Amino acid sequence: MAKLTVRDINVKDKKVLIRVDFNVPIHGGVITDDNRIQAALPTIKYVIENGGKAILFSHLGRIKEESDKKKNSLDIVAKRLEELLGKEVTFVPETRGTLLENAINNLKSGEVLMFENTRFEDLDGKKESKNDPELGKYWASLGDVFVNDAFGTAHRAHASNVGISDNIDVAVAGFLLEKEIKFIGGTLENPERPFVAILGGAKVSDKIEVINNLLKVADTVLIGGGMAFTFYKAMGYEIGKSLLEEDKVELAKELLEKANGKIVLGSDVTTGKAFSNDTEVNVREVDSILKDEMGLDIGPKSIKEFSEIIKNAKTVVWNGPMGVFEMSNFAKGTIGVAKAIADNKDHLTSIVGGGDSAAAVIEFGLEDGFSHISTGGGASLEYLEGKELPGIVAVKDK
Ligand code: ADP
Ligand code: MG
Repeated sequence: MAKLTVRDINVKDKKVLIRVDFNVPIHGGVITDDNRIQAALPTIKYVIENGGKAILFSHLGRIKEESDKKKNSLDIVAKRLEELLGKEVTFVPETRGTLLENAINNLKSGEVLMFENTRFEDLDGKKESKNDPELGKYWASLGDVFVNDAFGTAHRAHASNVGISDNIDVAVAGFLLEKEIKFIGGTLENPERPFVAILGGAKVSDKIEVINNLLKVADTVLIGGGMAFTFYKAMGYEIGKSLLEEDKVELAKELLEKANGKIVLGSDVTTGKAFSNDTEVNVREVDSILKDEMGLDIGPKSIKEFSEIIKNAKTVVWNGPMGVFEMSNFAKGTIGVAKAIADNKDHLTSIVGGGDSAAAVIEFGLEDGFSHISTGGGASLEYLEGKELPGIVAVKDK
């Protein structure tokens, strides 16, 4: 499923439309994390260094009413990009019209322009988010070629990704999208074995399709986090006040049966009396959880068991934290698994997909121990579910 990339096309003197994901967190008018801007730099630099005219655009937040526009303008993002690139970025505060068209026509080779938040078009009938055919066609008409580098929205068919791709001769992937396809797509298609999937997070119901898909391709599926307790319940254990999805117990039983030993749960858990970092903390064997306790992390023995399995793996895909890592007393399981992966980086291809698990790895400062930290929460989840992502499908095959 290899895709054409920006490397495969001629960008010299071309108007290169580049869909980036600059949906960065902004608090009080300040960008608090510019990782997404940094991640798009290789593609932007490649285009301008090779004499292309870079025309950038992205969504930012949601636009439901006129008053959402001010706080979701891309103007401060353009300024940050200018600093990171060390090069002037012409910002056009429009998503269509003569001002934008003239600015694009005046752009010289090697220059960079960015236009306003694509979701400003959502005010008038959700044109961006519903992939209005006229809008995709219009944006496509502004450029000669299209480069999609926004993985975070690849699971959605919007005018700014699928709409443009469908209305332009040349639609290719940027380097960031290429990396996501290579690591997530490539691993699911052809993993080096043993292939271990590690699943956690809050709920089974969020991850049913991920569990199903990874059971098909992985050799072992380790389960921790809140969702483990529905499985422990299915195995007949007392789980006290732990997170439980009563209506998923039957499904958990079926999955355990179907998995035929592939699903591995830890043998102990760390419990609290309340959902709080100040609560009394205990470690319990899974058959000894008290009625008035809740499991908030995997236990120390489980960390060892999981680490041993990770050590012997060649490929690891991880989605979902092992416990309530936001509370320091219940972060050890997530840190332990992250360390086990990082410690074996020499012989391990490791991928983290999932908003919270990726954030956890970055928070622990362990990014360098991983082969790939996916930039898309929802998109990586759907990719791990084995779905085809419309934003990727729309880009040309090699
Ligand atoms: P991701 O974003 O990586 O896919 P999820 O969104 O599925 O992960 O789950 C993350 C959330 O799961 C975190 O906020 C974490 O606190 C919660 N969680 C993990 N373990 C437990 C647990 N044992 N009980 C309750 N919540 C948990
Ligand atoms: Mg999440």
